Parts: sequence; C-alpha cells; structure tokens
Amino acid sequence: MVTANNDSGGDASGSLSKVTFGRKGGCYITKGVTVLLVVLFVSATVTTALLVYYFAPYVRHETPHRASIVSHVLPSSVTRQQHADGFRWHQAWTSKVTQTKIYKFHNAFFLNVFTHHHNILTPVTFALGTTVTSVPPTTSKSVGPSSSGVVKKRPDVRLPRALKPTRYVVKLQPFINGDFSIRGYLEVEMVVLEPTSNITLHIDNRTKNDTVRIIPVADSTRPAPTITHHTYDQERQFYIASLSEPLEAGTSYVLTMAFLAHLNTQLNGFYKSQYKDEDGTDRWVAATLFQPTEARRAFPCFDEPELKATFEIFLAREHHMTSLSNMPLMETFPMERQEGWVWDHYPPSVPMSTYLVLAVSNYTYIQSNDLNHVMFRVIDHAHYSLRIGQEMLAFYEYYFGIPFPLPKLDSITVPENVGGMENWGLVLYGETSLLYEAGVSSAANKQSTGFIVSHELAHQWFGNLVTPRWWDDLWLNEGFASYTEYVALDHVEPSWSVMEQFVFIDIHDVFAIDCLESSHPINLPVQHPDDIKNFDRITYAKGASVIRMMNHFLTEATFRRGLADYLSALQYGSAVQDDLWEYLTKAAHQDQTLPPEMTVKMVMDTWTLQMGYPVIKVVRSEDGTSATISQERFRLTKRENQTTSHDYRWWVPLTFTSQDNPVFSVTQPMAWMKNTDAQIIVLPLPKKEDWVVFNLQQTGYYRVNYDDHNWGLIIHQLLTDHSVINALNRAQLLDDALDLARASQLSYDIALRVVGYLNRETEYVPWASALDNMDYLYNMFTHSPHYAAFKNYLLDLIMPLYESVGFADNWQDPHLQQYKRVLALSWACKLQHQDCVDNSVSLFHQWMLNPANHSIISPNLRSTVYCTAIAAGGQVEWDFVWAQYLNTSVRTEKQKLLSALGCTKQTSILSRFLDMVFGEAGGIKYSESRNAYYSVAKNGLGRPLVWPYFRNHWQEIRQRYASAFDLHRFVKIATSALTTAEDLQEVQAFREAEASDLQSADRVMNQAVEKIVGDIIWRNQNHDYIVQWLHHHGYSL
Ligand SMILES: [Zn+2]
Repeated sequence: MVTANNDSGGDASGSLSKVTFGRKGGCYITKGVTVLLVVLFVSATVTTALLVYYFAPYVRHETPHRASIVSHVLPSSVTRQQHADGFRWHQAWTSKVTQTKIYKFHNAFFLNVFTHHHNILTPVTFALGTTVTSVPPTTSKSVGPSSSGVVKKRPDVRLPRALKPTRYVVKLQPFINGDFSIRGYLEVEMVVLEPTSNITLHIDNRTKNDTVRIIPVADSTRPAPTITHHTYDQERQFYIASLSEPLEAGTSYVLTMAFLAHLNTQLNGFYKSQYKDEDGTDRWVAATLFQPTEARRAFPCFDEPELKATFEIFLAREHHMTSLSNMPLMETFPMERQEGWVWDHYPPSVPMSTYLVLAVSNYTYIQSNDLNHVMFRVIDHAHYSLRIGQEMLAFYEYYFGIPFPLPKLDSITVPENVGGMENWGLVLYGETSLLYEAGVSSAANKQSTGFIVSHELAHQWFGNLVTPRWWDDLWLNEGFASYTEYVALDHVEPSWSVMEQFVFIDIHDVFAIDCLESSHPINLPVQHPDDIKNFDRITYAKGASVIRMMNHFLTEATFRRGLADYLSALQYGSAVQDDLWEYLTKAAHQDQTLPPEMTVKMVMDTWTLQMGYPVIKVVRSEDGTSATISQERFRLTKRENQTTSHDYRWWVPLTFTSQDNPVFSVTQPMAWMKNTDAQIIVLPLPKKEDWVVFNLQQTGYYRVNYDDHNWGLIIHQLLTDHSVINALNRAQLLDDALDLARASQLSYDIALRVVGYLNRETEYVPWASALDNMDYLYNMFTHSPHYAAFKNYLLDLIMPLYESVGFADNWQDPHLQQYKRVLALSWACKLQHQDCVDNSVSLFHQWMLNPANHSIISPNLRSTVYCTAIAAGGQVEWDFVWAQYLNTSVRTEKQKLLSALGCTKQTSILSRFLDMVFGEAGGIKYSESRNAYYSVAKNGLGRPLVWPYFRNHWQEIRQRYASAFDLHRFVKIATSALTTAEDLQEVQAFREAEASDLQSADRVMNQAVEKIVGDIIWRNQNHDYIVQWLHHHGYSL
C-alpha cells in the first residue's frame, strides 16, 4: 500500500516539499506519500471492503431493516442469473484437483447448513443491548505507558496454531441506506493441526452464542462437538469456543455463526463517507481499511496474514446498486422475503490472507481485454491509468515470470485521500491517485499516478501471492513495491528518467532521517499489530534503496531469477526475509555473481537489522595510485554524551571510476568492504592529478567523503565540463557535499564550491537534489539578518535555469522539461524574483476576471501562481481561492487551492485559516486538513503560529487523528519549523507532559528534538562562516 501524503499538494518539484526535516521536496506527490509515511500500508495485510451507494435523491428507508435483520441463506428455488466471466473462471479454477475436493464438499455442506441456518437464525434479531455476549466495536486501542506512567504489559495477540482455516463463506448484507448495520453470516472450515479443546478466532463485532455451530467435515457420522461455554477476550479480540472434548489432529470442522457489524465514520475499519459526483449528486461510499487487523470488524476470522484461505463471498445489495469483489461476479439472485434486495455471489478466491474486498457501486467502467487472460477494468475518466496499468501488468508478468493469477483486475476510487491499497484483483485508490486528466492535472500528478499504479500492481505478486508471515516482514513487501514501482514505470514512461529520479526521491530523502539517532532498522520487531504504525520512510524508501543496491550487486539477471524462484516456490504461502535471501543466494552462486563464501543474508542483514548508513571515507595516497577506505556511521550531529555500544559496520559494495577512463555504467562491485573491516586499501587508482568518484550512480546506500585534494579535482571537473560525470553522481556529489558540511565533516567552502557549477547544470535530477538541500540553508537564513545576501546568492544560481525554461508553460514539453520549469519558477517566486511574481499575479488576476476559464493558468504552474498571488494579495484574493476550493470537485485542484491559502502574508487571515483547518465547521475535509496545516507551517509568517496552535489543541488533534495513523504526521508538521533553544525547551516540556498520549508520534517527537539540537549546533558553527563566505563572493547585506 501507499499512503496518500500530499503534504504540499502542488505541482512538480519545488512546490512539493516533503516534511522531512531540513529538506525541501523533490517532486512528487505519490512519493510525498512516502515521506511521512506511515502507512496504512497494506500489502498482504490490508483488507479493504468497499461499499458505494447511490443515493439520489436521498430517501431514507424507514427502519424495517432493523426489524428484518435476519441472515438469509440461499434458497434453492430462486432464479439465478449467471455471469459469464465469474462462472467460467469458477469452473476453470474448481477443476484443479485440490479445489475440486473442496468444492464437492462445499455443495453438500452448504445444503446442510442452510437447514441449520434457517433453524438457527430465523427470526433472530440482533437488537443491540439484548445480545447475550458481545464484543463492542473498538475505536482505538492504546498501548504503551498508561497515563499513570505505568507501562501496561501487552498481551500476546497471536492466535494459537492448533487450527488452520482453509475456506470461508462470508455473507454480508450492509444497510448503507438505513441504520448502517451489516448483517452477516460466516462459515469457516478449519483443519486441526494439533489436538485442541477450544476454537479461537478473531472477532470485533457482535454475535449470539446460540448461532455458533461446529460441524465435522469428513465423517458425517461423527458427532458434532458440544460447546461448553463461549468466551470473549476483549483485549485480544478473541472469540473462544470451549469444547466438551478435544478435536483430533488431522480432522476438519466447520464453524458457522451469525453476526452483526457496523459501518463507522472513521477512516479505518469499516467506514462510510459521502461525496458529490460530477452532477452534484450525493453518493455514499462505505469502505474498509482492514490493515492490519480490521477485517475482524467486518466478519469473524483468523485475522493474521499467514493464515490464508479461500473466500467465497455473498454480498446483498439493493437491486439498483452494483457490487464488486476480488473475484468476478458469478451469479445474482433475489433475496428471499426481502423485496428489492438481491444476492451477488462471488466464487471462491485463490488462497489469500484476510484481505477481501466487497463493493457496491454505480461506477461505470471502461473495459479492456488487451491481456487475453485478464479482464482489466478501471473507473470512468481513468484513461491514463487504464493504459499504463495494462502495460504494467504485462510487464510484471514478464518481470516476475508468473502470470497474474486472477481472471480480472479492477481499479476503483474512493473520495478519501487514501493513496492506494492493493487488494487482490480489486485495487483501491484515492481519487487524486488514479484520476490523471490532461489539462486538469499537472505533470507531477501524472507521475504520481504512474508510481502509485505501479506500486499497487507490484503488490499483486509481492505481498498478495507471497505474503509476510507476520508484520515484521511487511517492510519486504513495501520495500519491494517501492522499488519495482520505478522499474515498471520506467518501462512504460522511459523518457521520464524515473530510475535517475530515484536517487533524490528516495535515497537522499530517507538519508535525512536515517542519519538521526532516533532512526530505526528497516526490520522492526512487531509484537503487536499497532507497532506497524511505526513504519515510515525507512520502511518504504530505505527498503527500496537497499533492494536497489542488491539488484545492482547481484546483477539484473541473477536478481530477477532469484526473485522469480522465490515467488514461484512460495506462491499462495507466506515468507520471512531469510527465505528471499536464500533464493537470491542460490541464484547468485549459480551465476557466480557472489563468491561461494558470501551469502545475500550476510550482506543484507547489515542493512536491514541495524539502523543508519555509512559514510565511506576515501583518502588517496601521496601519489594518488591507491586509497585507504574506511567506513563510519554517518551522523548528522555528534552529541558529546552519545553512548552506543553498537559498532556500526556494513558490508559495502564498492564501485568507482576515475578521470583517466571515466565509465559510470559498471555497478557490480569492484571490491567489498566487510562488516569486520575497519579499513581497506583499494588500488590501482590513477595518478594524483586525476579525480576518482566512488559509488557509481549511487547504487550503494552510503555517502562518500574524499580528501580535500580529490574534492578539488572533482570541483574542477564540474566547473570545466560537468557532463563527464554521470548525472546521478552529480546529484550524489551535491547531496553528499552539502550534508557532510552540515554534519561538520566537510568545510562549507568545499560544499559551496561544488554547488558553484550549478549555473551550467541543465538536467533536472542534479538540480532537484541541490535545491532539496539548499532548502535547509534557506530555512536557517529566513530569520537571519543576512537573509538578503543568501537570497541574492541563490537567485544568481537559479537564474540561468529560470531563463532557460521560461515562465510560459507548455504541457507538450518533455516531462522533465516541465519539471525543471516548475522547480525553477517555484524557487524564483519563493525568493521574490520580480519577473516571477509579476507574471504570477498577472495570470491570477486574469483568472479572477474569468474564473470559468481553467486554461488561463497551466496545471503545472497553479501551485506557484496561486501561492504567489495570495502572498502578494490580500483578503480579496484569499476569498476568491477559498470560493474556488469550495466549488471545484476536482481533487487535485482542491489540494492546490487549499495549500495556497496558507501562503497569505496577513497573520489575521492565517490564524483564522488555522481554526478552519481543524474546526468541524471549517468546510475542510478531515483527509485534507494535513495539507492545509502543512501549508501554514511552510509559510515564514505561519511558523510562529503552528506550534502553539498544536500545543494548545493537542487533545482535540490527538483524538481526531490518532486512529487514522495520522498523528505522527501532525507532530512532524507542528515541529518542522522549530530551530531555536527556546523551541527545544518547549518541545521537551510538551513531550514530558504528554508522553503517555504520543503513541506512534513518539518517534517523530524524538526526531524533532534531535533536529532542533542539530539546528542549534549548526547555527553556532556555520551561520557566520557562510555569511563571510557570501561576503567574499560578492553577496553582502
Ligand atoms: Zn505498498
């Protein structure tokens, strides 16, 4: 899964800052995603159920539903309408040997249960409050220290392993247009792996004890076990049926029960929400985010990723609705005794984790059958997604060497900004993620759509077909999908150079948090599913970066073969990271890309089990022909009292080239530095007059520092002919030099001399990398008396780029040309360049005179133009943008308008805007409030407001966002502009006072403290030096 995270919501590059500390953002929206990320991630573990309901005009059904809450079963006499695709697939699938057995059984059993079922359920009514036993719906679970400061012992939440589910039949009747209840019925078949006298599964809804039945499968003469009592363990969300006698190993049983669930109003679990369609008609959407443990809120189940089974779904809907599920629809028939309702029946799925998608909707589809064995469908208007989605699906089949195993793949949207969730055969996206439209969306929106579709489709194999055994290994899914999303997007959009963009979108971005003491290893122990709230950029971006490194050191052929072997051997099963290392090692030894004494595990454990990354120091000998290489963990700030007993060392693949024969294409290691090596000697290198550059194309997840002489040679090369050095390595040199200087490991004189060649740079990736870094200096100088000198220096650097791209946008320009323009303009306007500001204000006023004409301002430039015009204008401009925000139904446009509102230079308007962001009556959607808040934090004037507002409204903010995995993002935004000693005191005081309520935001709070400490040190050590440096280079007050 990818979490939506448009913290800036704007166009390409410059305007899309990520809230990583001290960094100004790279391009991107989808990836913005990645940034703060946490993620609701999915992968093999999220279940999403979606129910969309058409509601025009809104007619409230009176409550007969409540009275008629009876779980109907399928009478044999009703007319059934068979749907060709689902039925054909069902026949094909069930003809497979193993499944035939299950299906035969299923028929016999089904009739049997119907009888029981009628007896049991008619006319049971699940009136709340009268149930004998129940588990109340859980809204938020709090773990960690209690308010009294006592750490609560966490229970072992794992299910016993005595039973293994093999097959579910789930029937759900959601009353979307009624009391929002969901009436359900469940059959689950289980194999007994070891003798047990209880049946334990997850439940987070209501049931009645007398609806629970346990029926033996294989031997119908065997008596059904008696349930002696029912227990509900509310803390662990277990339902436990204690039995009169133990079940024998090797036997199989079916448990059946009826239950009642509810649609809630939160953005997790089973939730409902409303939006207006293009005609202004209200539509209801009810969707579920089941990751990690919310499937149990929709139906009782063995809710752990490893416990895969087939799912056969019956979904009840009113006749004017339509429905979707993971499988194609097999048949539809009327519900008995429920006028206007029908059952949609979906055939048993392939074995999968408790993800499961149900949908009822009025979406129309544009259909394509280009892949002859997969029906690929997307919702209306998603033409671009349809095209690339099909191409990517075909690409992944080739890349992974395994055909997509389901007969169809649907892509649908919900109004919330949820990113994407890879439910098998029915991928769910937030609208902004899927609906790219030329002329309406920007180039950045387009790239974002490309990434997210690519990511979710990769999960269809990596995550859905092979699933993490437990949540610890979720990083593997997310890291892989976050890497292969580049590979597949590069395949369908080769001119975008996304493989080059990887370097600053992912590596440089995650370097910024992985250099902190408060970082964490990729592979995090997860005792409780809530722990995955701690997943962040490290999980996704570092995961992707170390997998990319592995791809290069193994070579493409070996990497893909190992991957394909792993997927094919473990398909429909689960895995841990060691399984993957094993298959890759086998391939590497066969191909001789790793020596026999080395394994992938040996190397990769050093990157996944310990946090941080090294800086490789290259010190050349007197004559230059050899170099001493050492490794040390890169830390942004070294604190006096730092105490760590861990000796951070890595297995480092070394690659390098030199001036006498500069070849940057070889990325297979020329030498390995072991995790036991303190230093090694590399030779031969050229004579001392020629530079060397290490870490070619920055395929290794590490920084490189050189002796001053080699830095001098590199700078000379950049100034004379920078094109000799590969663009990725130029981006690397800029990022390394500026961050090494920030960490006091290199002089700012060298770093700024590296930057000095930029006025001749014409490629996007080095520029994006440089400005990402310069944003830190910009923020540190914003309130400095020497701001003007710094600003003029930066403007001089950027002007050649600004002039080469021009203010007039042209969507037919090459993709990266559009990106460069957005980057240059956003910086020029931010630095108050007169031409940029005048052009923006003029365009904006033309639009104000003619608001219906959306072609006046190109989508690429909207974020910059809106923000600049609002900053230069007053209440009138602000009100105009607010009105446009309320009027438009285009989500990407809404984001741009909302973010621009935070650009005002009038404090009174800004304060009022903050109230609107968090106020119930503000008109700003829950899912959009983060972007709005971020826009205020980015505004220099807004900075003093953002933290106090957060502190004063902490309790409301906590309650509103805690359950949606969003809390840590707000903490990050609230603290992003703090840089002084006073700020530090405030944050520490807050942290101490509120420690018990910080939950998943605690790590972000630690990062904030560390970042502020770093800023204070930086200001003391570097501010005056840079002021002098600027003065020497002609920039004074
Ligand atoms: Zn994912």
